Amino acid sequence: MENQKRSVQDAWQKRPLIISGPCSAETEEQVLETATRLAKTGKVDMLRAGIWKPRTRPGSFEGVGTKGLPWLQQARKLTGLPTAVEVATGKQVEDALHFDVDVLWIGARTTVNPFSVQEVADALRGVKVPVLIKNPINPDLELWIGAVERVAKAGIEQIGLIHRGFSSYGNTEFRNAPMWHLAIEMKRRNPNMLIINDPSHICGRRDILLEVAQEAINLDYDGLMIESHIDPDNAWSDAKQQITPEQLAGLLGEIVWRKEDI
Ligand code: PEP
Ligand code: MN
Repeated sequence: MENQKRSVQDAWQKRPLIISGPCSAETEEQVLETATRLAKTGKVDMLRAGIWKPRTRPGSFEGVGTKGLPWLQQARKLTGLPTAVEVATGKQVEDALHFDVDVLWIGARTTVNPFSVQEVADALRGVKVPVLIKNPINPDLELWIGAVERVAKAGIEQIGLIHRGFSSYGNTEFRNAPMWHLAIEMKRRNPNMLIINDPSHICGRRDILLEVAQEAINLDYDGLMIESHIDPDNAWSDAKQQITPEQLAGLLGEIVWRKEDI
């Protein structure tokens, strides 16, 4: 237990902090193979996987649910990579913690809803776990700050921010416009809080991931969360934006890092 906690703490302190893994956990084999191939690159600090997926329309794949949590536990055992999962309800928080998920994150569709954020925060009371909070889907900084405050008031000391862009109607270059100035303002207001960028959900496509990731590093972000999949084109969610673990390693190799990161 001590070892596990120490390594989550190491990852949390690491700069740049690189989080990767599939949009969704699909099968045990997929999770284990993704984790193994990511670990082999030596460039990833934490494994992400969506277990409960907040889909825009009903009828899409909504995640494997709690049965996927032991797969992550197994992946952690196999690779030593700490794990991160999105939670949107009190029950999901309980289940994720029951199966030793190391880091929880609040998704963009949850950050917009104070009732949901409060429910998650209440389930976190008395628990010591790092929590990452994505920006809300709409460009409302106060909602993002409110979510941080609710989680902080529940006693969570390690809180980080994820900038995943802001949605708008119609097709744009980005799936979710980055609106960098908003994230920079959030960073200015929370100078000691970890902030990482999520190029996958900003871009919605593979070809511009590098460009956005580089911009984030140029703007002094603390790390990146990028989705990866063993067979991106056949992913059960977000197929267009995922890359293989090896492509991720290539992309990370192309980024011009800050001097202190090298
Ligand atoms: C995800 O990370 O797969 C996800 C659903 O992200 P977001 O909350 O940013 O849409
Ligand atoms: Mn996704």
